[in-house]
Amino acid sequence: MTTFDTLLRRGSIVSGEFASSVDEPMVDIGIADGRIAAIGPDLEGGAREEIACDGLTIFPGVIDAHVHFNEPGRTEWEGFATGSHALAAGGATACIEMPLNAHPPTLDAESFDLKRAAAEAAAVVDFALWGGLVPGNIERMDELAARGVIGFKAFMSASGIEDFSAADDLTLYEGMARAARLDRIVAVHAENDTITRALGERAIAEGRTGARDYLSSRPIIAELEAISRAILFAEETGCALHIVHVSTGRGVALVAEARARGVDASCETCPHYLVFTEEDVEAIGALAKCAPPIRSAAEREALWAYLADGNLPMVASDHSPAPASMKTDANFFRIWGGISGCQSLLQLLLTYGHFERDLPLETIARATSEYPTARFRLPNKGRIEVGADADLALVALHDETSLQSADLFYRHQHSPYVGQKLRGRVAQTLLRGMTIYRDGQIVSAPTSRLITPEV
Ligand SMILES: [Zn+2]
Repeated sequence: MTTFDTLLRRGSIVSGEFASSVDEPMVDIGIADGRIAAIGPDLEGGAREEIACDGLTIFPGVIDAHVHFNEPGRTEWEGFATGSHALAAGGATACIEMPLNAHPPTLDAESFDLKRAAAEAAAVVDFALWGGLVPGNIERMDELAARGVIGFKAFMSASGIEDFSAADDLTLYEGMARAARLDRIVAVHAENDTITRALGERAIAEGRTGARDYLSSRPIIAELEAISRAILFAEETGCALHIVHVSTGRGVALVAEARARGVDASCETCPHYLVFTEEDVEAIGALAKCAPPIRSAAEREALWAYLADGNLPMVASDHSPAPASMKTDANFFRIWGGISGCQSLLQLLLTYGHFERDLPLETIARATSEYPTARFRLPNKGRIEVGADADLALVALHDETSLQSADLFYRHQHSPYVGQKLRGRVAQTLLRGMTIYRDGQIVSAPTSRLITPEV
């Protein structure tokens, strides 16, 4: 009797009601029509395909809510093919892609359609799209919402790219009011533009253009002020707010305080803020340049503490690649910022969170899968439970590998994590029950679907 299309035998599950500690019995997962059809010990019935999961830990597929794949228009920086291959190799089954740095940026229905077509043609993971909020496109927010954007992304400081302008205060305020009416979330890059711009110009004028000078030009106060202002606008407009890539514990605290008094606010951090310190930026150089910049060891530890206690509910990669030619300049300010990291998101959290800091596996699954699913209202994603999409990452938890450039599926095989010994090898990734990645190989043709939020 064939009951299932695929049957996973004897895996240890880290999420949902069958989440079990290592001493508890392993369970089976039966998959039919791309969905999880049954979970339990020793499931009855056969399957066309059986996958032995002895020794493997089964995570819900990672949902990387912050990636830049730059297609169409700047596909030579990454693209949906290589970007999604890297995600699949890292145990991810879905991403939410940012409105920049593609060209055209996703600012209206037409650019949304172009990006959707590019993703459907090339990606091996499911995807949702952020729309952009920039001066002059508020009247396009309705059509973007109708197309199915998750929400709207705005920059409070210069984005670094000329086709995506920073939102001035009025644009942000009126955009949030419109987003609230559309029942869509607004995500902001929160840094004060006046402070970061002036400090950057001053440093360059004085010939101080090293890595340390760049870090000092984007101080924590610039981030805290912008987070506070975004929260105030969200509170006033009733708009749901998400602060992307928070780099400091005090930034997380501001969001937590706002949430405690009823503001619909959330935030994420990224692996690079959890792994590196300012000293590492000096040592690594261009590959570790990002904004807001990487902070002190004390800030890094504050982020880990908030991740453990739940105040920091989500981690996303902010994978933002560029060709090597854009990552070399004696002047650190002129180097293109952005860190390539989406392939390593889960492994970094396992290595530095679970194994180094005793962060529970359930917390990692929540931060990379369950929380983004809930926050961005992704239907049928992010949970290991009957009825959900069978999006799963099978992980050999204790395997340790040294990350090499050749292991990276990125178009440009560089990353600040190259050379690191990482735990938690992803053995296999399944999207809607189909194996898309196994043992170092992408084994699927493009098979992505657009995810639109439940509203
Ligand atoms: Zn980003």
